[in-house]
Amino acid sequence: MARVYNFSAGPATLPEKVLKQAAEEMFDYKGCGMSVMEMSHRSKEFQSIIDTAEADLREIMNIPNNYKVLFLQGGASLQFSMVPLNLMVKNKKCDIVNTGQWTKKAISEAKKYGQVNIVADSSKDNFTYIPELDSSKFSKDADYFYIATNNTIYGTVYKNIPEVGNVPLVADMSSNILSEPIDVSKFGIIFAGAQKNIGPAGLTIVIIREDLIGHADEKVPTLLNYKTHADEGSMYNTPPCYSIYIAGLVFKLIKENGGLIAMQKYNQKKAQMLYDHIDNSKLFKSPVRKDSRSLMNVPFVTGDETLDAEFIKQASAKGLKTLKGHRSVGGMRASIYNAMPMEGVQALVDFMREFEQAHK
Ligand SMILES: *Cc1c(COP(=O)(O)O)cnc(C)c1O
Repeated sequence: MARVYNFSAGPATLPEKVLKQAAEEMFDYKGCGMSVMEMSHRSKEFQSIIDTAEADLREIMNIPNNYKVLFLQGGASLQFSMVPLNLMVKNKKCDIVNTGQWTKKAISEAKKYGQVNIVADSSKDNFTYIPELDSSKFSKDADYFYIATNNTIYGTVYKNIPEVGNVPLVADMSSNILSEPIDVSKFGIIFAGAQKNIGPAGLTIVIIREDLIGHADEKVPTLLNYKTHADEGSMYNTPPCYSIYIAGLVFKLIKENGGLIAMQKYNQKKAQMLYDHIDNSKLFKSPVRKDSRSLMNVPFVTGDETLDAEFIKQASAKGLKTLKGHRSVGGMRASIYNAMPMEGVQALVDFMREFEQAHK
């Protein structure tokens, strides 16, 4: 069977080139007679895999030297706890912008450890935009300021990173890390589950400014303390070795293809093609405000649930898979992460046109 175009929000499609290389190296990784899945994380082969992955990520994201890169487990969701456990230590207070399900979960975890100030919230309009921020509502003494840069379910993204002064800015970038260049020095912590734009599930990348490490209470479980992982080069215990290996291949490919500037251009082209089609269509509509539209996750609806279901069914039969929208938005959602080729978006647009013709 030929490969389909998989529009899943996560775990998501991976670059074909990476999958082919992984397949080739499955039985015998560079002459060591075993796969990466089977080798000791203390072996020199694996040490080289994780070191190279980190060096390549540092290069493509231009990560300053005073930041650590951690390769953790527990998903992005564990960071909803680790962030307050490690950062909410001084004034036990944080500011959060509520832009969807993932920030709601971060809010409910943070509330277990201190005071949460919701500085802005777009929930009453079903999170269809990134709210305006009024800095007079920011706490001057927050231990950190928290955002989700791209909201996977609703298809919204910050077009500008908020200015929060000296308060460390923490960002959940699970669904748009590596999609465009960002200035890492504006953030205290950036974290991302790997399964959207990096690699397989099981790996969570944390990029953390060094001065934020080492302040957790001693009662915080060892594995939930950033210091443990920073001190041990992410090898206090067995890391998600295979996921790190695949992530490393993805980083290498991004480098070869011209880095994040090239990635951004490609992503803008893909998203533009899809949004232009939606905006010019009489059948399909985008629920997202134009100034907040994500390059990665593109929800669209017909307004008729039966028609949506028919669209999803017919698309699937044509090899355009996993287009069903999240239940809280309905309709369709095309996740067009880095690894989704232009041809996939073109095939989707072609099918949307065909479907609209047939349902006039
Ligand atoms: C998918 C996602 C999560 C949850 O990730 P897990 O790795 O499943 O815990 C959190 N935040 C955002 C923005 C996501 O897209």
